[in-house]
Amino acid sequence: MRFDILTLFPEMFTGPLTSSIIKRARDRGIIEINLFNIRDYSTNKHRTVDDTPYGGGAGMVMGPEVLTRAIESVTSRYGSSPYRVILMCPQGRVFNQALASELAGEQNLLFVCGHYEGIDERVRESLVTDEISIGDYVLTGGELPAAVVVDAVARLVPGVLGETASIVEESFQNNLLEYPHYTKPRSFRGQTVPEVLLSGHHEEIRKWRRRNSLVRTLARRPELLLRAELTKEDKEILKEI
Ligand code: SAM
Repeated sequence: MRFDILTLFPEMFTGPLTSSIIKRARDRGIIEINLFNIRDYSTNKHRTVDDTPYGGGAGMVMGPEVLTRAIESVTSRYGSSPYRVILMCPQGRVFNQALASELAGEQNLLFVCGHYEGIDERVRESLVTDEISIGDYVLTGGELPAAVVVDAVARLVPGVLGETASIVEESFQNNLLEYPHYTKPRSFRGQTVPEVLLSGHHEEIRKWRRRNSLVRTLARRPELLLRAELTKEDKEILKEI
């Protein structure tokens, strides 16, 4: 799967996209991530990409010419291969695990990172297919949001994580929060690991985990339960709680 990113600050991706699991997936060729500097598509002497807003007001707006050239150049690089052109935008669809799964089914994603006051509306209308927000707050640019989305989508691409089972049980995957985890030592500062997890009894462990997943979701994010696929056993546990 290919992730292309258009940004004015490619250096902001060093770290998130060059470490750990994402680095390994790139090295193994499971995912490809390319960074393009929007400034490289500017044709004027000072390589400017922004201008003052019509109508006045504070801040600068990223203009349509350079951005259009940049988007069209990247999307035409790989022939007729279809692209989702994703604008990172605080006014967009709020990102969640369901959207991450949807995007993981695509072959090519192009992320456009805005900066300053944002981008000229005409680019949004003509070239952008999706607008994604990572939450109801405003950041200085789309770079951190794009890195968040790339990370969440990439780890769902088959082969990126070793064990697919770990994705299946994870928080939000079925609109449930995951159960608590423990590792060695058995006792730490007087806090002990629940006995059932030491029992080696797989069915009892499964039940404990499911119950705790339901308890957590009910306590922390009860609205998720309305969308969760619940079994008869789950409903009984919830009634009991
Ligand atoms: N003037 C814009 C508004 O009020 O909607 C905000 C522009 S923001 C300062 C600059 C850029 O940061 C945006 O174009 C977008 O790419 C990115 N950005 C900021 N907050 C974001 C968020 N919550 N989710 C996604 N992108 C965001």
